[in-house]
Amino acid sequence: MTDSNAELSAPEPTREEILEIDDPRFEDGTVALVTGAASGIGQATAVALATNGLTVVGADVDEAGMGETADLVEDCNAPGTFHGVETDLTSDEDVKAVVDAAADEGELRYVVNIAGVQHINPIRKFPTEKWDLLQDVMLRAPFLTAKHAIPHIEATDDGVGAVANMASVHGHYATKDKAAYITAKHGLIGLTRCIAAEGDGSLRSFSVSVGYVLTPLMANQIADQARERGISEEEVVEDVFLGQARTKEMMMPVEVANLFTFGLSGHSKHLNGADMLWDGGYTHTYE
Ligand code: NAD
Repeated sequence: MTDSNAELSAPEPTREEILEIDDPRFEDGTVALVTGAASGIGQATAVALATNGLTVVGADVDEAGMGETADLVEDCNAPGTFHGVETDLTSDEDVKAVVDAAADEGELRYVVNIAGVQHINPIRKFPTEKWDLLQDVMLRAPFLTAKHAIPHIEATDDGVGAVANMASVHGHYATKDKAAYITAKHGLIGLTRCIAAEGDGSLRSFSVSVGYVLTPLMANQIADQARERGISEEEVVEDVFLGQARTKEMMMPVEVANLFTFGLSGHSKHLNGADMLWDGGYTHTYE
């Protein structure tokens, strides 16, 4: 994060902000695997699911960040637990190992693919290795977590479970300079539908799409966006991030976490193959 946007840091989730749902499967025998659990939306989701009583296994490269997640779970007096497993999602072996580790903790029913990275450049300058990295983290890894987790979900007594994927408004439309991210998010919405199509209705899949959320991934792209567009950092926030939304407020990570909790719960048994588009009016309105 640069000094100019240092004030843009998300508050830590508190218990009062977390949606708690009375669901028979939200208990410590049930395991949720959450990728990207060391920061931002993934961290808030891990804390929210542990607060809902689940055993949460986190997958992230950032071990120190997952230590913070464990502290936040404790601060919330969560009835569930959090175990971080250092995982590089670009490694097929690591992805398999973390799914196995999650399955060892109890009944693996839920996978939440949240980890993500961003890179800002026009296509003609876009480094190919960055393209590959973004596809690996945000598309290949979710495919692999689903591939390895589905047999565990199907092996539970009732086969109830879900693979949830973090998409974006950028899974619905394109802006400039984010070709790898936008392509991966469109693909992830497609993968979500494929998982739902192969499920029998008890194994569901859904995605969550939001606009701009106050996290390091968002704050860290302000300077790059300003450079590529030739505008000030303030204009990036006001015009690029919030300009098209009707709701002129950044979303907080815990608000996204609550969507995942609701989507995984029994209240959402008809949410299958679909996208929860919570974008403050970004996609469907035009001023
Ligand atoms: P963040 O940077 O706060 O967190 C991303 C996490 O992913 C980090 O903990 C990072 O270590 C982890 N990660 C990155 N590469 C990894 C790898 N190779 N292996 C394991 N872990 C890895 O970002 P965030 O804003 O919380 O983003 C989370 C997700 O939400 C992303 O998929 C992003 O595309 C999506 N999203 C974010 C916004 C936003 O405005 N912040 C909006 C829409 C969608």
